[in-house]
This record gives sequence, C-alpha cells and structure tokens, in this order.
Amino acid sequence: MHSTNNALIAYAERLLKSERQRYLQLHPTSARLAEEARQHYLYGVPMHWMNDWGTPTPLFVREARGAHFTCADNIDYTDFCLGDTGAMFGHSPEPVARALEEQARRGFTAMLPGVNTPDVGAALADQFGLPYWQLATTATDANRFVLRWARAVTGRTKLLVFDGCYHGTVDDTLVDCVVDAEDGKTVSQTVSRASLIGQTVDLGLNTVAVDFNDLAAVERELSSGEIACLLTEPALTNCGMVPALPGFIARLRELTTRYGTLLILDETHTISSGRGGWARNAGIEPDFVVFGKPIAGGLPAAAYGFSAVLAKRMQAAKDAAPPGHSGIGTTLSGNMLTLAALHATLTEVATPAAYEHMLTLAATLEQGLTALLARHALPWCITRIGARLELQFCPTAPVNAREARAAQQDELEHAIHLYLLNRGVLLTPFHNMMLVCPETRPADIDKLLTVLDDCLSTLTAH
Ligand code: PMP
Repeated sequence: MHSTNNALIAYAERLLKSERQRYLQLHPTSARLAEEARQHYLYGVPMHWMNDWGTPTPLFVREARGAHFTCADNIDYTDFCLGDTGAMFGHSPEPVARALEEQARRGFTAMLPGVNTPDVGAALADQFGLPYWQLATTATDANRFVLRWARAVTGRTKLLVFDGCYHGTVDDTLVDCVVDAEDGKTVSQTVSRASLIGQTVDLGLNTVAVDFNDLAAVERELSSGEIACLLTEPALTNCGMVPALPGFIARLRELTTRYGTLLILDETHTISSGRGGWARNAGIEPDFVVFGKPIAGGLPAAAYGFSAVLAKRMQAAKDAAPPGHSGIGTTLSGNMLTLAALHATLTEVATPAAYEHMLTLAATLEQGLTALLARHALPWCITRIGARLELQFCPTAPVNAREARAAQQDELEHAIHLYLLNRGVLLTPFHNMMLVCPETRPADIDKLLTVLDDCLSTLTAH
C-alpha cells in the first residue's frame, strides 16, 4: 500500500463522520421516507441493494431528467451514476417519453409480436452489427438464456469466466477463485461466491474461472474440450475497471474458435465504448453479444445477438428438443411497450451525434481528472472506456481482478462519494465510476472537478 493512501485513509474515517452528519441535516425528507418505508420493505427499500450505497439513509428521488435529478428534499444533483448505465442515454430521453406516450393507449403486452417487430430487429442489426436477435427483460436474463443456448448447441456443459466477473445474478457466473497458498497468485479452484444467499449447488462443478488477461490459463482450460462457452465483458467493469491488454480479446476470439468454444461478449456496460458497442468498433465478431440496461432508454429490456451460423445451430437444437418448456424466455420479454422504447432509443437517442458528444466530453473529464490527481500528487489512475470512467486507488490500471481488489479502499471511497453527494454530485456506488450522457454539459464536468478538487484538498491537508 502506498504511504499517501495510508495517510488519506486515516483521515477518511473522520471526514466520513462529519459528512454523515451533514447528509442527515440536508436530507430530512429522505430520512422520513426511509422511516416510513421500513414498515413495508426489507431494509426500507424496494430492492435490498438500494440500502448499500453508504449513505446514512437512502436518498429518495423525486424527479430525474437528462443528466440531473432532484431528491425528496428538492436538492439538484448532477448524475454521473446514471442508474449504473441504465440511464446512460440520460434520464427520460424525449423520444422515448414520446414513444411511450403514443404506445400507452395501444397496449403494453400481449405475448404476441407488435407490428414494429421487424423495424426493431432491423435497428438492432443496424446498430450492433449481428444479424439475428432475441429479446429478454434484463441483461441477467439475456446472459442466462445465452448460456443455455451455448450448452445446447455445443453439447458441452462447462462455462469459462474471469475472476471478478459480474454478468447479473446468473448463478453459473457467481463464483470465486481459490488462489494457490504458496505463490498467492495461481488460481487453483473455482468455488461458489461466499456471499451468495440460499445457494445450494456447488457452482465450481460446471464453471471455471481464471485471471483476466491470462491467455495461458484460458488456453489451458479451453484445451480440455469441455468448455461450451467463454463469457466475458470486453473489459472487466464490475470490480473497479480492468482493461484488456492489447490484443487480448482478439486472441480470445482465435482460441475459442480453435477449441470449438463459443465466445459470448457481455456488452451491458461496454456499450459506452462507442455506437454499436466495443466489439463492433474493434472489428471482432463474437458468437453471441449481450446488451441490456440503457437500450430501451432505461426501461427493462435486453437483447442478445448472434451470427447466422449460430442461428441455424440454435434452431436445430430447439427443433431436436422434446416439445415443452425450453427454459428460455419470460412472459413480458419483447412486449409492445418495450419494443416502442427500444425503437425510439436505437433510432433517435443512441445516435452518432449523441455518442460523439458523450465521448468528447468524457475525454475532457478524463483530462481534468488526470490533471487533478497530478496536482494533488496522488498515486491513482483514471481508466476510460468511451463514455465511462473509473478512478482507482493505484498508479496504473489493474491487470486482473486480484490487483483491482487490492486497490480498493472502502472508507476512502465512501468518504469521497458522500462528500460529493453532499455537494450535489453523484458517483456510482461500490466503485468510483462516472458516466457521461448526451445531456451532460461542460458545466456539469466543471462542477464534478471543482467539488472533487475541494474534497481532495480536504483529504490531503491532514
Ligand atoms: N452484465 C454486466 C456486465 C453487468 O454489469 C450487469 C449489471 N451490472 C449485468 C449484466 C446485469 O444487468 P441487470 O442487473 O440489468 O440484469
């Protein structure tokens, strides 16, 4: 641990205490709503994670629009969390709001394809490149369904993922690595993630996890001939941010092809890379690609795309199966309301101009943050994937999840987040992620940099 970090961590605890008090003074209405909600919700929130932000009570939202939202106490926030990517195209984009209004009196769901189904299919293919698509309601579901298809078409059972991965609450992927006690590095076993609740199956039976950026380990596992698919993000974005080393994903494409393993790229977060996602911009064609979160403007929707070759293999697998439940799909997936929102988002919101704006402003933010860290002589780094930025408490970007975890400093992170929140700037919880949306303005970037500058001055002055 760097000595600068140690000094900051020591003060972060005190700062956190005073910021918690300030939060409670600023948010009496949120505190009251939390008290009322506790009567009917576990932890007082609709989903228990909402209680894990590190604020003394949850922050209740009154209204959100573009890059801003107002809390229950009528305080305005510049939102760099953007629903952890769900609102990456801004809150309530106008074309989506309009499409929803138009569809609102024409039916929400019928378990039948709406008349705009061909247009939505064409928009998906046009934006993301792959020719064939299926819809799901969440990225979690899309990943779960893709795993089933992959096992069905390959006739293999095993899944390969990377340590530190997150692909939603898909049981198969919720694993931890046991590291060799002697060298403290080599992954020797894959086990069910210790924090899982109600997990009864040994997830290490069918899932193997290795270090990200470790091609030798990937090849070793693939060469068993038992791996149905390799599921990964183009960069790990859920344990801090771990970028792929140059050529790593291209090599994964080659290796998976060689060993008859399907390559699934989960682009739920790397949709921030540029229009069409990371793979399309890098010229790499996975067997499956998964998109979720923002593709219907923040309404629940996900889609998985696949190649023409795979479409044939999937159809053959389905046709060969006995009639009955496939275990793939949910009732509300691809409903009429979602299709309307998807179409509006893909054709009117996620436009080349929107991405141009997001990427340009995110680059400005990257420069500003880098300069700020230099000015405060902090041994930290900024990693950017298009419109998505991550600040990590280490001098250079981690190469795998183990390095990323070693750089995490919870107290320091909480202190920075709460300091910023108390001054009207929201970062993504559980790490230091910032997203730029089409409605983010240079003044929003300036505000983040100014408040963070004050925060770092306070931290480093002690
Ligand atoms: N894939 C990735 C890469 C994710 O980061 C997430 C959620 N953070 C998911 C899938 C799951 O998305 P959802 O919770 O919307 O199902």
